[in-house]
Amino acid sequence: MKRNILLNPGPATTTETVKLAQVVPDICPREAEFGALMEFVSEGLTSFVADPKDYTSVLFGGSGTAGVEAVLSSVIGEDEGILIVNNGAYGARMCQICDVYGIHYVEFKSSKIEPINLEELEACIKEHQGFVQYLAVIHNETTTGLLNELDPLAELTRKYGLTFIVDAMSSYAAIPIHMAKQNISYLVASSNKNIQGMAGVVFAICNKEKLQELKDKKKRNFYLDLYAQYEYFQKTKQLRFTPPVQTLYALKQAIIELQEETVEGRYQRYTDNWETLLEGITRLGLTYLVAKEHHSHIITTILEPDCEGYSFDGMHDYLYARGYTIYPGKIGEKNTFRIANIGALDRNDIKEFLECLEKYLIGIKFIK
Ligand SMILES: *Cc1c(COP(=O)(O)O)cnc(C)c1O
Repeated sequence: MKRNILLNPGPATTTETVKLAQVVPDICPREAEFGALMEFVSEGLTSFVADPKDYTSVLFGGSGTAGVEAVLSSVIGEDEGILIVNNGAYGARMCQICDVYGIHYVEFKSSKIEPINLEELEACIKEHQGFVQYLAVIHNETTTGLLNELDPLAELTRKYGLTFIVDAMSSYAAIPIHMAKQNISYLVASSNKNIQGMAGVVFAICNKEKLQELKDKKKRNFYLDLYAQYEYFQKTKQLRFTPPVQTLYALKQAIIELQEETVEGRYQRYTDNWETLLEGITRLGLTYLVAKEHHSHIITTILEPDCEGYSFDGMHDYLYARGYTIYPGKIGEKNTFRIANIGALDRNDIKEFLECLEKYLIGIKFIK
């Protein structure tokens, strides 16, 4: 199979073994054999961040946004409110979801490139005490690659008795997370980013006690009903509706491969890729947007070359033709593009990519 190097922030490059795991005999997902696979997947996903005794993964067929939507629309009661930290497109998306469902929320706007100002956040929590019972944050804001540190936020949730919801779509399986220690009740991630599986499955890892509290809440959704899916899975080991069968076989293989590598090991490999990337682009005369100490080590926002011959499409197409997929910027004010260093890649792939980028930059006369 041709090996493409995906430097977009997911779907990520996968191993050959994960790709091939999808080729299986046809099976009805209501069979016990498939239920055993589902149980393995659900427990395996939980184990990377929590003890399956107290936490469980609730799965849905869908992209990552479906999981965020499932949690927000299932968890926050009609007479409750949520404080959402917005420092990028994914924080903004949580606000949009709340708008659509009529969920009460307070938006805490924070810089897209500087870390969260914790004093200001605490003041905001105090101001809305009694109105908000939940705090939501994006762990790695994929918009910029800015890491929102969970520990200080966890402390605030403890101090003010808030239930902590984390969109860890682009950090789960890459950055070590400990749900109990970090007081996280709901954490959302998907099958096609750092877990290095195929697209199509999203999962919310939930504290079981918190899930139980949802039992009698008035329902706002149907397909995305977190409690209904949890309860159904307990009884049947099935999803309520047709799952992406082959994606789940690939996910099983991806879990096995992460169990072998470990999250800590993957974090080291990604960090190595990221360091190689930063060193390389700096050598080529490019700069990045966020200060290095606040990077997630997963995705980097780079300022576009200031040079007449440059266009994002031109650079994209040059690299794409040579097997590398890069990603446009998502921050309005500045001209940027993004490079993710996740997936089944190592330092040598990044080095080869940098050689290719160098040739493009020589071609447009940005460098000699
Ligand atoms: C990728 C991503 C999502 C989900 O995007 P989908 O396109 O719906 O899969 C949500 N939040 C963050 C932080 C992401 O990086």
